[in-house]
Amino acid sequence: MIAKVIVDVPSKNVDYNFDYLVPRNLERMIQVGMRVVVPFGSRTIQGYVMELTDQANSDLDMSKLKEVIEVRDIKPELTTELIELSKWYGKYHVTKRISMLEVMLPAALKAKYTKIFKLNSKENVPPKLVNRFDSKGNYEYKMAQKNNDLNDIIPFLSSGEITEETLLSQNVGKKTQRAVKVSELYDVDTVLTELEGKPKQYDLYAYLSDERHRVVTLKELQEMDFSISSINTLTRNGLIEKYDAVVERDPFDTRVFEKERKRDLTEDQQQAYNQIVKSIDNRDYNTYLLHGVTGSGKTEVYLQTIERVLEVDRQAMMLVPEIALTPQMVVRFKRRFGDEVAVLHSGLSKGERYDEWQKIRDGRARVSVGARSSVFAPFKDLGIIIIDEEHESSYKQEDYPRYHARDVAEWRSRYHQCPLILGSATPSLESYARASKGVYELLSLPNRVNNQALPHIDIVDMREELGTGNRSMFSNELREAIQTRLENKEQIVLFLNRRGYASFILCRDCGHVPQCPHCDISLTYHKANDQLKCHYCGYQERPPVLCPNCESEHIRQVGTGTQRVEELLQREFEDANIIRMDVDTTSRKGAHEKLLNDFGKGKGDILLGTQMIAKGLDFPNITLVGVLNADTMLNLPDFRSSERTYQLLTQVAGRAGRHEKEGRVIIQTYNPDHYAIQDVQQNDYETFYHKEMNYRKMGKYPPYYFLINFTISHENMKKVLEASKHVHQVLLNHLSDKALVLGPSPAPLTRINNAFRFQVLIKYKSEPDLYRALQYLDDYYHDLYLKDKLSLKIDVNPQMMM
Ligand code: ADP
Ligand code: ZN
Ligand code: ZN
Repeated sequence: MIAKVIVDVPSKNVDYNFDYLVPRNLERMIQVGMRVVVPFGSRTIQGYVMELTDQANSDLDMSKLKEVIEVRDIKPELTTELIELSKWYGKYHVTKRISMLEVMLPAALKAKYTKIFKLNSKENVPPKLVNRFDSKGNYEYKMAQKNNDLNDIIPFLSSGEITEETLLSQNVGKKTQRAVKVSELYDVDTVLTELEGKPKQYDLYAYLSDERHRVVTLKELQEMDFSISSINTLTRNGLIEKYDAVVERDPFDTRVFEKERKRDLTEDQQQAYNQIVKSIDNRDYNTYLLHGVTGSGKTEVYLQTIERVLEVDRQAMMLVPEIALTPQMVVRFKRRFGDEVAVLHSGLSKGERYDEWQKIRDGRARVSVGARSSVFAPFKDLGIIIIDEEHESSYKQEDYPRYHARDVAEWRSRYHQCPLILGSATPSLESYARASKGVYELLSLPNRVNNQALPHIDIVDMREELGTGNRSMFSNELREAIQTRLENKEQIVLFLNRRGYASFILCRDCGHVPQCPHCDISLTYHKANDQLKCHYCGYQERPPVLCPNCESEHIRQVGTGTQRVEELLQREFEDANIIRMDVDTTSRKGAHEKLLNDFGKGKGDILLGTQMIAKGLDFPNITLVGVLNADTMLNLPDFRSSERTYQLLTQVAGRAGRHEKEGRVIIQTYNPDHYAIQDVQQNDYETFYHKEMNYRKMGKYPPYYFLINFTISHENMKKVLEASKHVHQVLLNHLSDKALVLGPSPAPLTRINNAFRFQVLIKYKSEPDLYRALQYLDDYYHDLYLKDKLSLKIDVNPQMMM
């Protein structure tokens, strides 16, 4: 037997399959998708089995093939589907297959770990094999490998006498806890009669026998005030036993989930539901765009269609952006589907993630809820894929391998013949355009459930505020609105754009913000040494006294960090309880959840925070949402900046008045006439879409054209220029004259970490020869990178132009 193995060497020369001979003793255990150890040159390295066959490459002499040394897995971690996916993705996004395979697998698998077999019953197992297990019934994998026992073990794995457990290294290991149970050697009633004169021991024993069906930890007993001495006495007498119990790291294990009833759908919801269910039942791989304002009941539609998928015994995958993956969201899914839900997000430890992954792989969880990378969850029979907040840029991984979860999901929906649902209140222009053209099917939920009014939105012109002499960061309107809410004991959310984090300098008369001369990025103000500094290239200057643009003297520090806003806020509203949410206050695990819980319970009057509060927050008592600085995102040098502003403001505004009480939103801005801000006020996605499409058409941007961005960088400017011209020329040679090849020009961030950066941008509609050109460039610059650190980054469908 021959295994085609893709190996773990990050060099283009080895991004294809190598043939290895499978030794006889490994033939029964090796499977496609497993990780193996193989000799490579003078080393041994890890690889993945892509194919098993009896046929070697015809030009190879079988006798010269090297042998597979070791099989790492008992069950394949990669499905054949994921293997195919890596092939497809690698080609169209110029990404090495090995990198795709690695990004698919949970990080825990990269750590050192040990596999252990556990003997559950000796009955049918031959004594020779039983002897391999230690007194606790454990047998380490490594040894099994060497003496060929694995072949003997495998039949008992399927019949259950032996089970396989992965024990990961220390930091990702399974948690065990000291636990206590009654000994099985004695009859419970007899023991109880004997213990009648000793009430403490009697109670303990009675409790443990009642709780025999579950793990009772020593800690728990102590917390219940059972005495240590009774525990010890009973243990000594052999009536009870201490042991190490493996506890699954369910991050939600302390919570009890009340089962939630499903709701009767509204007419709009029902219509969407019916369409989707039709596709589920017919196994169509339609893509639906579910366009519904915040609070229109999209999530309820997801939940009920997933229910349908489970009824027909298939599986469901739901993606949400990392910051929207709030405990509230998870709880909602757990309430509906209980243990069948696997949760995958970066807040989990490696071990926790791996546990969740295994639940999916082994079919114990049929629903996953997770962030971007959970799009690779190893489901075998998907009935639906859902991407909530489909417009979010975080679905694109910006680091290599650059992949977009939406592309992967589309591929998987075709593979599984199941519908893909893209949900959003503010769809990406690309998706909405596809829906308009009938490529996607549009489903609309135009109203909030129970027809609650959308919040009333006011726009405050901060330039006028200044004209009236108000120099604080709170407009009079916002200040009064806050005051009223505080008096009525209603809650307030104040939103600060992330870029407002760093302090920078702004002219309050003309809006001018000093930029770094090299990087086209706002300079950050450092109070400590009174300097303006560029965070990308290190450039420094003294802050100007007069605005370089209009000579006003009202140029000073704004965009203060959340902490400073909190101070100012507290000064204005002395009695208000403020909860601040930013990276500082939420870095500890569980802190995010605790702060939100506190706010939900009414422990705070004002929730102040960044992007992370823009999503998912759903409390009945919030009647005011204030946006302190709506402009920062509008000023980014990116063709999507209007779209992003519209999306973010709509999202934030949606936090107000989601329940009985009416909501109000106040947006403070220096650009009150900008269409992105105006259309948010009217809650008019259609109008915004048409205006923005016009700009895109004029500028030849997506969705009218596809983009690929090439970034060339090196410390030596001359080399960058030469290479950029070369890239430009290669593209010109390969592409038709309908494509535009722009540049080379300095990247918006011209220099990062001393490396100069130039870009070439192509805009095209259809280019049959494109992928050959990309592959050629990728190979060519891969060699140059290895030799000389001259790097070419190819970003297909870029989400950020920096
Ligand atoms: P979205 O995901 O579009 O923001 P949700 O599904 O979260 O909307 O629904 C908003 C609120 O309305 C939630 O509190 C939800 O429980 C409730 N809800 C959704 N659908 C219904 C329905 N058909 N009947 C009653 N309440 C509903
Ligand atoms: Zn700079
Ligand atoms: Zn000015």
